[in-house]
Amino acid sequence: MRRKLAAGNWKMNGTSAALGELAALQEAHPDPAVDLLICPPATLLSAAVQEAHNGPLMIGGQDCHEKTDGAHTGDISAEMLRDVGARAVILGHSERRAGYHETSEDVRAKARTAHAAGLMTVICLGESLIQREATNTLDIIGAQLSLSVPDTSTGENLVVAYEPIWAIGSGQTPTPDQIGEVHDFMRTRLERRFGAGVGRSVRLLYGGSVKPENAAEIFAVSNVDGALVGGASLKAADFAPIIRALENA
Ligand code: PEP
Repeated sequence: MRRKLAAGNWKMNGTSAALGELAALQEAHPDPAVDLLICPPATLLSAAVQEAHNGPLMIGGQDCHEKTDGAHTGDISAEMLRDVGARAVILGHSERRAGYHETSEDVRAKARTAHAAGLMTVICLGESLIQREATNTLDIIGAQLSLSVPDTSTGENLVVAYEPIWAIGSGQTPTPDQIGEVHDFMRTRLERRFGAGVGRSVRLLYGGSVKPENAAEIFAVSNVDGALVGGASLKAADFAPIIRALENA
């Protein structure tokens, strides 16, 4: 059985005042029946780890460098994330693929380094609207999946998030059938590559405009093991009902 995972990506949002949201989230879910992960901006990692008090709420980074150390101004290594108490890292988010020209090969190299540092990686994949309309979604997802996921992956250290680019922050979501088609496809591909044991234990998240209102419908889709949530993870009042919907799925 895969344990469900609700993950929040705060992106470039939040100063120390936002730590109150972590306190409120833990108050709302002191003993969650699902795994919880919040990835705040790097400036808040240390304080967020302290706020989580070694409890069930995991704290993660939003990116890391593929190298372990060196002359890379402005970057953060996987080891540094681990050192500050982070347990996971988001890699290959479409905003980084678009804004920093990150390729799937770059993502794979980062993931390998993150696995070596003991981090769980949440690797993001997703098609553009043009690619979906051209019926290329499964080709795009298949290529991103095989190129972005390293051979160091296990059922514990790999989470894959399907995030259609056109659904991120737009209020638009794919239909349950469209989500199910991609998630079933990813599961089959992972089983084929890693064998049934590992392939069936990797958690597959959906991401893109998940909200309290649509969460239950999305979590009912086959092979959806949770969500990667952007905007609705910033406030405990929005994220808590999404977590509840996942607990009840
Ligand atoms: C994201 O950027 O990972 C995301 C899913 O954003 P949102 O929930 O705001 O669409």
